[in-house]
Amino acid sequence: MASNRNLLVLPGDGIGPEVMNEVRKIIAWMGSKRAVGFDIQEDVVGGAALDRHGVPLADATMKTALEADAVLFGSVGGPKWDNVEFDKKPERGLLRLRKEMDLFANLRPAKVFDALIDASSLKPEIVKGLDIMIIRELTSGVYFGEPRGRHTNARGEVEAFDTQRYTASEIRRVCAVAFELARKRKNKVMSSEKANVMHTGVLWREEATRLHKEKYSDVKLEHMYADALAMQLLRSPGQFDVIVTDNLFGDILSDEASMLTGSLGMLPSASLGAPDATGRRKALYEPIHGSAPDIAGKGLANPLAETLSYAMMLRYSFDLGNEADLVEKAVENVLAAGYRTADLLGGGKHDGVKKVGTQEMGDAIVKELDRLA
Ligand code: NAD
Repeated sequence: MASNRNLLVLPGDGIGPEVMNEVRKIIAWMGSKRAVGFDIQEDVVGGAALDRHGVPLADATMKTALEADAVLFGSVGGPKWDNVEFDKKPERGLLRLRKEMDLFANLRPAKVFDALIDASSLKPEIVKGLDIMIIRELTSGVYFGEPRGRHTNARGEVEAFDTQRYTASEIRRVCAVAFELARKRKNKVMSSEKANVMHTGVLWREEATRLHKEKYSDVKLEHMYADALAMQLLRSPGQFDVIVTDNLFGDILSDEASMLTGSLGMLPSASLGAPDATGRRKALYEPIHGSAPDIAGKGLANPLAETLSYAMMLRYSFDLGNEADLVEKAVENVLAAGYRTADLLGGGKHDGVKKVGTQEMGDAIVKELDRLA
């Protein structure tokens, strides 16, 4: 079906193509039942691109990604390419996409589905209904700041150094994403840094506060030191809605938050760039998990993280909130009906559980979409 929605699909390696196959079924369902069509281009990335083109991301693929409205990504990597030189590693393909698309805002939802509440490492009463969005700054901070490196100092000892560096505009643009997102959720933003001990933290707090006053005073803004936030995420995570923080703290806090929810196979993400003249942002959607070589090719992969990444794409790139709700509801209902891939079976009770493989889980979602519609 012709549409003005351009989508680049990059399944990648390992379980990437397997979980993407299940999302294709949902894309087809949306096209035929809800008239939500995409102009889809598909290409290789990671190890698959290395095998075909000798690089983990071909220039032509990069160009298509820059022109697309959204990129839906699977996963890259695997033992076959473990010993290739650093610049050719499959993961470099993903890093190039993030860098050249300037995807500075990484959205990591941590949502607990009632049916999986026993999979959390916290007590059910603490995580019940949990629905947090962590926004991590992705293209600056200590992972990129110069100078960085190592040398032998004047005392003859080897020392290594990194630089935490943020400009006011880098802070403002990621905080703007947080405020805008909060308006579509519970209207609350928690900004987090270490303003007590870091200059970048002081600037972060000033800029978040200034932007809030200028443009987003309808949203509730609070601040919390990152160490206190790490503790509060475990003590009482339900107090948070949108959290915005820098690259380093976001890396750690988003992993911590994701574990509140249970399996890697359930966690989607979005990475967004700056809006263009029409307001549309460059965007890449991908599950948090990797290519899972230990289960690749066995039909065991959980396709729900990729499915939920697709739902995020509907919501954030195409403003199709109702359709995103529908997909998320289908996932919730299928879990409530007891469908579980192997990764969701650890611990907890197994009464009424239907153990399924990748394709059966995808089929169950499509069947539930039919029922809901
Ligand atoms: P991984 O996420 O691939 O797997 C970790 C564990 O979780 C494995 O036991 C795996 O079987 C399981 N798992 C992951 N996703 C699952 C799913 N959807 N359903 C069921 N079980 C699932 O991480 P890893 O083992 O550290 O890395 C494997 C490869 O993936 C490496 O080459 C790594 O570099 C790469 N990697 C890629 C990405 C990415 O593409 N964004 C992210 C992380 C790791």
